[in-house]
Amino acid sequence: MPHPRIAWPGSFRLRLAVLFGGLFLFSALLGALGLNRMLSDRMLQDQGETLHSLASNIAKAIGDNLHERHREVILLAQTPTYVRAPLDGPDLRQSLERTKRAYRYYAWIGVTDTSGKILSATGGMLEGQSAAKRPWFIHGQHAPFIGDIHQAVLLSKLMKSPSAGGEPLRFVDFASPIYDQAGKLRGVLATHALWDWVVETIRGRLPDNAGQAGLQAFIVDAGNNMLSPFEAVGRVKPPTPLALGQSFRLGPWPDGGDYLYSEAQIREQGLSWRVIIRQPRQQALATLNQLRAALMLLGLAASLLLMAAVYRLAAAFSRPLEQLAGIAERIGGGDENTGWTVRTGTQELRQLSEAMRNMTATLLTRKRELTDINASLERMVEERTEELREANVSLAHKAIRLEQLARSDALTGLYNRMAATEQLEREQQRFQRSGADYSVLMLDVDHFKRVNDGHGHEAGDQVLRHIAALLRESARANDFVARYGGEEFLLLLPGTGLDGAAMVAEKIRAAVESSTAPAVGRVTISAGVATVADSDAASDDVVRRADQALYRAKAGGRNRVEA
Ligand code: GH3
Ligand code: MG
Ligand code: MG
Repeated sequence: MPHPRIAWPGSFRLRLAVLFGGLFLFSALLGALGLNRMLSDRMLQDQGETLHSLASNIAKAIGDNLHERHREVILLAQTPTYVRAPLDGPDLRQSLERTKRAYRYYAWIGVTDTSGKILSATGGMLEGQSAAKRPWFIHGQHAPFIGDIHQAVLLSKLMKSPSAGGEPLRFVDFASPIYDQAGKLRGVLATHALWDWVVETIRGRLPDNAGQAGLQAFIVDAGNNMLSPFEAVGRVKPPTPLALGQSFRLGPWPDGGDYLYSEAQIREQGLSWRVIIRQPRQQALATLNQLRAALMLLGLAASLLLMAAVYRLAAAFSRPLEQLAGIAERIGGGDENTGWTVRTGTQELRQLSEAMRNMTATLLTRKRELTDINASLERMVEERTEELREANVSLAHKAIRLEQLARSDALTGLYNRMAATEQLEREQQRFQRSGADYSVLMLDVDHFKRVNDGHGHEAGDQVLRHIAALLRESARANDFVARYGGEEFLLLLPGTGLDGAAMVAEKIRAAVESSTAPAVGRVTISAGVATVADSDAASDDVVRRADQALYRAKAGGRNRVEA
């Protein structure tokens, strides 16, 4: 059953590189995750603290300024001119003008009598009018006073110099009672400071890139009313004050949007303002996001570098293995002279190469031995085969010889009766198949008994051999000559009709008669001739007719031919 397997890159080096690179990337990711968490807390804290210190700075600057203006009014009200001189006299007017010139944000300075009527003022503005209903007079006749920001409509019109941005002139009031030497109330000294100094103070304290960083500063009064900047008045609703001990907060603002913000209090003579600095969440965490991206890039680059390094290292490790594989392949392909020399510093690989060298040597030796054994076996088999073949040939020769012996007559060397019978059978079949006729001659030595009796059996044998030689000479190549019985011979003449056969018989008879048989002299033979006929069922029929013809020749006086 096939195993479900993960598809791995094939080579050793690639696997190692992927494995190590992946592991590193994984741990780098884990580390980055933890670091990110830690850093984001830390950076939020830092940025919050930065906002807080900025807010505190601005609050302190504004508070200091308020304090200074406040003290200035108090000190001025205690100078001899204010204590003794007439409140509508030239000395006092000069003092007012001097004071106004000393601080550029003073818009107006004036004094009232105890009823609130303005006796003297810078530029003579509002002189003779009543300030009895103004908070600065109401409070200022009892104690030094700082009044919340307000718009002095009348004064604005009189001054005809709206500040930058086209917003109406806005002021902060400072007032102090004026006492005579006996400590009796003479009137009230009041200054109206342009709000512009607050705006300037804030602008001077905010960092240069405040606009880019989305930093905004607000000033809110005790009733949570927006005082500054002017364009935010009535538009931006400030959030509730931070809890005690909380220096910043990340959260939504009533006008929408998430902000990181911090605040600081300004407390001066009954005033309670809050300076709030806010920064959109996105921008507050911008550095963090940049850091995060940088971290990711760094991790990725480090992983890639590590992968490359591991790849090179693994290559160095796997090169000897690849060499070994290459050598094994070459040897497998038949190149037996390849050596197992692999350059490597690794002990195990050297061991492996050594072991493979030995193994190859052993295997090659075995192989050669086997080849040798194989060759000698083949030679042996060849020799045995040759011997067997020779034995077979001689056996076949013997068999042939035996067969010849079985079919030949020992005395004359002619075919014997068995061979004659077989040949007759073949000739009869040929006749029946193709109509090729044949004739049979039966020959018998005349009065042979007398030869034996008169000259001995040995002489008889010699006569038989003599006749056999004559027959052999007379016969044509195709004719078949056999000794059929004791002194009886049979000649089979293929393709020969009765007349031809009779002529052959006559020729033989004459040859025998005219020859001289050894030891005996003259011998004669009688012959019967027969030719095959369509009615013959077997060669026996032809032989019988030849026999009958021979009988007739004997009966007719011997030494003659009968057909
Ligand atoms: P006919 O003219 O009527 O043929 O008279 P014949 O004497 O030839 O006839 P018969 O058949 O009476 O005699 C044949 C003799 O041939 C008898 C036998 O002893 C002799 N004979 C047969 N075979 C051999 C042999 O192989 N060698 C010798 N020496 N004599 C043989
Ligand atoms: Mg006979
Ligand atoms: Mg005879």
